[in-house]
Amino acid sequence: MALSGVRLVVFGKQGAGKGTQCVRLSDHYVVPHISTGDMLRAAVKNRSELGLKAKAIMERGELLGDDLIMEMVAERLAESDACERGFILDGFPRTAHQAEALAAFMAPGDLDLAVDIELPTAEVLRRLAGRRVCSECGANYSVSSPPKVNWTCDTCGGEVIQRKDDTEEAIKRRLEIYERQTAPLIDWYSKRGQFAEVDGVGSPEAVLRQIIRAVEERRKDLGTTR
Ligand code: AMP
Repeated sequence: MALSGVRLVVFGKQGAGKGTQCVRLSDHYVVPHISTGDMLRAAVKNRSELGLKAKAIMERGELLGDDLIMEMVAERLAESDACERGFILDGFPRTAHQAEALAAFMAPGDLDLAVDIELPTAEVLRRLAGRRVCSECGANYSVSSPPKVNWTCDTCGGEVIQRKDDTEEAIKRRLEIYERQTAPLIDWYSKRGQFAEVDGVGSPEAVLRQIIRAVEERRKDLGTTR
């Protein structure tokens, strides 16, 4: 029997390993990894109308308007892969308004879980300073774990670069915004019994195991496989 899908939101400060875990979770549950940051970076690259609106805001490390983001996410969630098996949401929701819009969009269904990968801020800053990403496919690297050949992506051959919003100033602003706007979402999901925290300090495999266990426990509580 095929493994059931999942509907998962993954939180974590920038640099907590969220992107890496989302890729692994997407493979594990065979559901799409939907990253609003990646979708927006693609829009900027393609110079679409959305990309032109998003570029300067993203470079300042600020958030785009809720309505714009919700429209983009709703369109993606309406595609057949997400409807049939679910999704791993990365970077969304980021405000209470977005969380409410997501719940309304999924009704009468619901999320399985919102998971927060917790990491001390000092460790986050250390990791972000060394983070590098593929400018084509978004694959994650770092100065201590670079691609095999000359800053060229192992997967797609794209150029591996430092993100424009990984400057010290933009990182500081994004962490402040995370504390102010996104951390309260943890309360929002906790009150609905849909929240689990995992420790982001261990190896990627250990963090993945914690997340899968949290999903299984939540399903056991609900007496459901989905
Ligand atoms: P990320 O890759 O998730 O850190 O997102 C990069 C940037 O895209 C953020 O700093 C925001 O400018 C924008 N962004 C991504 N997701 C959202 C969202 N859910 N709401 C508003 N802005 C977003």
